[in-house]
Amino acid sequence: MIGNWAGTANWAGNVRFRPRRLHRPRSMEELRGSLAGSQRVRVVGAAHSFTRLADTSGDLIDLTDMPRGLDVDTAGRRARVSGGWTYGELCPRLHAAGWALDNLASLPHVSVAGACATATHGSGRRRGCLAAQVDATELLTADGDPVTLTQRDDGFPAAAASLGALGVVTALTLRLRPAFAMVQYVHERIPLDAIAAELEATMARAYSVCLFTAWEDPPCADVWVKRVVADGAQAPEFTGAEPLFGVPPTGRDRHPLPAGSVDACTEQRSVGPWHLRLPHFRADRVPASGNELQTEYFVPWEHAAAAIAAVSALGAGIRPVLLLTEIRAVAADRLWLSPFHDRDSLAIHFSWRNDWPAVRAVLPRVEEALAPYDARPHWGKLFTCSGDYLERVYGASMQRFRDAARALDPRGRFRNDFLDRWVFGR
Ligand SMILES: Cc1cc2nc3c(=O)[nH]c(=O)nc-3n(C[C@H](O)[C@H](O)[C@H](O)COP(=O)(O)OP(=O)(O)OC[C@H]3O[C@@H](n4cnc5c(N)ncnc54)[C@H](O)[C@@H]3O)c2cc1C
Repeated sequence: MIGNWAGTANWAGNVRFRPRRLHRPRSMEELRGSLAGSQRVRVVGAAHSFTRLADTSGDLIDLTDMPRGLDVDTAGRRARVSGGWTYGELCPRLHAAGWALDNLASLPHVSVAGACATATHGSGRRRGCLAAQVDATELLTADGDPVTLTQRDDGFPAAAASLGALGVVTALTLRLRPAFAMVQYVHERIPLDAIAAELEATMARAYSVCLFTAWEDPPCADVWVKRVVADGAQAPEFTGAEPLFGVPPTGRDRHPLPAGSVDACTEQRSVGPWHLRLPHFRADRVPASGNELQTEYFVPWEHAAAAIAAVSALGAGIRPVLLLTEIRAVAADRLWLSPFHDRDSLAIHFSWRNDWPAVRAVLPRVEEALAPYDARPHWGKLFTCSGDYLERVYGASMQRFRDAARALDPRGRFRNDFLDRWVFGR
């Protein structure tokens, strides 16, 4: 799937939505009407999550047909944006107005509200997740009342990455930075143990750096470097960029997967706008392999090298199901259910074959290997760890989130089976 939700299943096809009713409101009035008759309600964004997070047996609301707004506050360096925009729709408009966001995910196809809800992230040793760019969240509660939570409000750390549990996110205010230019290039097949020994220097080498590995024996990684460049800089000076562990950047275009088509990827080895270099994939193409399941775990930065070694030791056990792993860095934030709450993190992502029984069998092994480092899973990607485990690795912030959600949604109308099990289960 390239664009917004097609109506029945998620991007991967592993979640079939089963709502009692589907609503596509075209105005705030219609949105209030959709909420009025519902006992249980959820909002779906671009349906790119792999878990049943957006699903409901009650009413499902799709904001695709709602009017879209973008108001840039130049003096305040902020933009108020509708929750239903995808980043692919929003970013060219921001860029045209001379502005940029701090970071983006690997793909621009996801909605702003949906991506922030799950603390979706890109990479960068000093770059937070996308929800960390939020300054204010505007919600409609189950009773149709508008509520705005800003940085100054007690409940804000629940609202910016809300898992959809607080209400319908109608708009967000995002912090901006002046538009900038970037170049991206790839150093191929560097031994992963060499990188792990100098992880800080490698991941802090540029604005955004990520590693792709298939955990072969011994594991190698392709290092994707996304570097900010001065206005007017030309590409050739970057094709001669410094070698990394003695390896110069490759002179060919790459897809993260060896057999993937580079046509799906954003331009490499040429200077271009931030929003056409930070994501790996183009908005008008199918991202990733096009047919896969995903999981991802986040460990505190101080355990990064140990966590890489722990997964590396699983090698042969996970390779038959694995397509590719991506390793990224994400800076700490203060959002209660963000996996990056209070900790700079290493993100270890797995793209798996689209075969849930096989993936279901290997996930406990990965989770067991990463549990000593208090790994937190991505809310939008598949995991098997227990609610008790999540309670432990989130600590007091899980209860703070529940309290904030109950204050805004006392009857739990925005809850679903997923939230009951993993967040409210105790
Ligand atoms: C190919 C692929 C690549 C990916 N790459 C990355 C990556 O680089 N980094 C990363 O972190 N993740 C990545 N993901 C995961 C994805 O970014 C997250 O699952 C994200 O939440 C999906 O956004 P969405 O708009 O599809 O939201 P959905 O999956 O539709 O919904 C996610 C959550 O947001 C809630 N929600 C959505 N809109 C609203 C609203 N308006 N109001 C209230 N709640 C709302 C839903 O109820 C649900 O709880 C990838 C997924 C795919 C398929």
